[in-house]
Amino acid sequence: MIGEPAGRTRVKRLPEKARYDRATVDAIFDEALICHVGFVQDGAPFVIPTIHARVGDTLYFHGSPASRMLRLMKDGAQVAVTATLLDGIVAARSVFHHSMHYRSAMVMGFARIVDTPEERAIALKAITEAVLPGRWAEARHPSPNEEKGTLLTAVQIEEFSAKVSERDVGDEPDDYALPIWAGVIPLRLVSGTPEPDERNLDGVVAPPSVLRFVRETRDTRREI
Ligand SMILES: Cc1cc2nc3c(=O)[nH]c(=O)nc-3n(C[C@H](O)[C@H](O)[C@H](O)COP(=O)(O)OP(=O)(O)OC[C@H]3O[C@@H](n4cnc5c(N)ncnc54)[C@H](O)[C@@H]3O)c2cc1C
Repeated sequence: MIGEPAGRTRVKRLPEKARYDRATVDAIFDEALICHVGFVQDGAPFVIPTIHARVGDTLYFHGSPASRMLRLMKDGAQVAVTATLLDGIVAARSVFHHSMHYRSAMVMGFARIVDTPEERAIALKAITEAVLPGRWAEARHPSPNEEKGTLLTAVQIEEFSAKVSERDVGDEPDDYALPIWAGVIPLRLVSGTPEPDERNLDGVVAPPSVLRFVRETRDTRREI
């Protein structure tokens, strides 16, 4: 656990929700399936949703060499990367006190290209595994042409913050006398039944990576 940072990663609003420890930041990036990368080009801001993977102190990104985001990152652009996990909707008695349960993390820094064969291999595998753990061992690996068509970039996790909101309903004292329902609607990522591709070969069944993902995120919803 590190102390409150003095610089641009210090949360100002509701600072009691701020977290400045790497374990919290890492856990949020690891659980999030996507993140958003913000950058400025020619004075205009862009925020791009994209897949990421964390390996130690590094966040990796991949995509087409034609991507504006990746081209700028390759040339060392300054970026802010955020990941957000939505855990619930807090419905209060007053409109003012509605809020959300969430865990969000931000990393700021300069991006770089990933160009050595060793680090490219680490990044490609990590990005595949970040989305569907176990899939790297099941699927065909990139051909030389696919390798050439994939730009890889990285951002070091050096300047970071997180914010965790888990407070339940907090209404004004007088409002507890109102006949208005208040409470929390929990939210989470849920997977449905996998839909096999129609060109799957006979006898080819859903592999462990798919079964595990579905088992861990399946819909166990109860009617209200
Ligand atoms: C799902 C969700 C919904 C939200 N809805 C609202 C809303 O409706 N209105 C609203 O004002 N705010 C909302 N927030 C909070 C919002 O993200 C900011 O925290 C808020 O705007 C206060 O920022 P600030 O002025 O304190 O800090 P800023 O000056 O904007 O940021 C300073 C530094 O604090 C850190 N930081 C700020 N916010 C976060 C964060 N969420 N996660 C990680 N690090 C952060 C960053 O390092 C940033 O550089 C929401 C957050 C989430 C995750």
